[in-house]
Amino acid sequence: MEDFFEKLALSPYISELCQGSSAIRKLDQIAKEMANKYGDEAIHNFSLGNPRVLPPEEYDQIMIDTIKDKSFFLPHGYAPNAGDQPGREAIAKLFSKLQDVDISYKNVVLSAGCAGAINVFLRTTLSVGDEVIIPSPYFLEYPYYVENFYGKCVFCDTKFEEGWQINRENFEKCFTAKTRCVIINSPQNPTGIVYTEETIKMISEVCENFSKKYGRPIWIISDDVYCRILRPGKKPHQIFKFYKFSVICYSVSKDLSLPGERIGALILNPAIKLCDRNIHALSMINEFLAIYPPNRLHMRALPKLLQYTSKVELYTESQKIVEETLKKLKIEFISPEGTFFLFPKIPDGIDEMNFCKSMLKNFIVIVPGSSFGKKGFFRLSFCKPPEDIKRGMDQFKIAYKKTIEELANKRHEKHEKPEKYEIQEKQYVDKNQATNKKHIHNN
Ligand code: PLP
Repeated sequence: MEDFFEKLALSPYISELCQGSSAIRKLDQIAKEMANKYGDEAIHNFSLGNPRVLPPEEYDQIMIDTIKDKSFFLPHGYAPNAGDQPGREAIAKLFSKLQDVDISYKNVVLSAGCAGAINVFLRTTLSVGDEVIIPSPYFLEYPYYVENFYGKCVFCDTKFEEGWQINRENFEKCFTAKTRCVIINSPQNPTGIVYTEETIKMISEVCENFSKKYGRPIWIISDDVYCRILRPGKKPHQIFKFYKFSVICYSVSKDLSLPGERIGALILNPAIKLCDRNIHALSMINEFLAIYPPNRLHMRALPKLLQYTSKVELYTESQKIVEETLKKLKIEFISPEGTFFLFPKIPDGIDEMNFCKSMLKNFIVIVPGSSFGKKGFFRLSFCKPPEDIKRGMDQFKIAYKKTIEELANKRHEKHEKPEKYEIQEKQYVDKNQATNKKHIHNN
């Protein structure tokens, strides 16, 4: 009785929403147990979205200079709801260049990371029951963001065979009178693909048609958090040129390797006439959600910080090492044009959860595709410098061969035994020798 009473302490809706992502949590738990037993050094974690390439060399000096700068009015006081003007100007300047469109600081609201920007935008535009179209595979947190504001997700399936680009016919089927937003992400987590100009034009045209049909604007939320993590010669897409009701969400979490500092921005398309009204609402929601202009110190440093990126060219080298290994193992994948993720195929007939568990037993942490809305694949993050990746790939080869051998044999057994998790011993890992004990993150 007492338990039942205590269960009523939470909103039933939120209790249910928080049930998700169990596969990742399960694997993460096992990875932690293994790290405790064998030491962190023994585990090759390819599940991270937390960049391990250091922030730019200039970072320390910029922050020291910012702390010493006493000319700023109330340098540690509350900031305006939309953020400090110099920081907004710096974001406007960067995106004017990336989008090849003139953007004023008045179209920018600073926010707590890219996640903060997306959440503020959804809260400002969604009514209860409104629908948000999300191409799958997708960044695994989107559904939680949408449902947290009582929106409903409509997933638009994309295919490996079509290079994960959005298929017009499938896309059009997702629209109803309740469609409010479409979230696109390019370069994309988890596939690493970049949408072609053809795709961007197509989704813009379709959104415009359905906006007219249903009598209210359908927003395109463009999650551009990886827009400066591109392979040589690749360009980010330019949504502002093609679709009026568009907003870009961005942060310095990935391209400057500063995810813990929570600095991001919303940038509204300057083609919108009633921009002031929208920016005012977004700034107010920033405040109401209490995630408003974050970290004053970093916000003040933004004009200088944005002139740099971390050494993103290292990801190109890391990718090359991973791809060489995958090719040798005859694993199918689409070569990413940006981000630090690969989304390879699991051989047909092999259960993805068993695959990921077996890889983990062999000291390799990867994330099953279903966590991103796409079964039969796995996400491999190469967000580390090449030397770390190289070391991990040697173990990856061993783990993959053992996994395929074991699971292929299992497939041939008539009655599969209930799965029991057992960690395989590895002679050369001695827990007592492992000194560097870091936590395993999983995001
Ligand atoms: N969008 C995508 C596609 C991401 O991969 C992430 C983080 O992994 C985020 C948004 C969240 O970014 P931030 O840490 O800046 O909130």
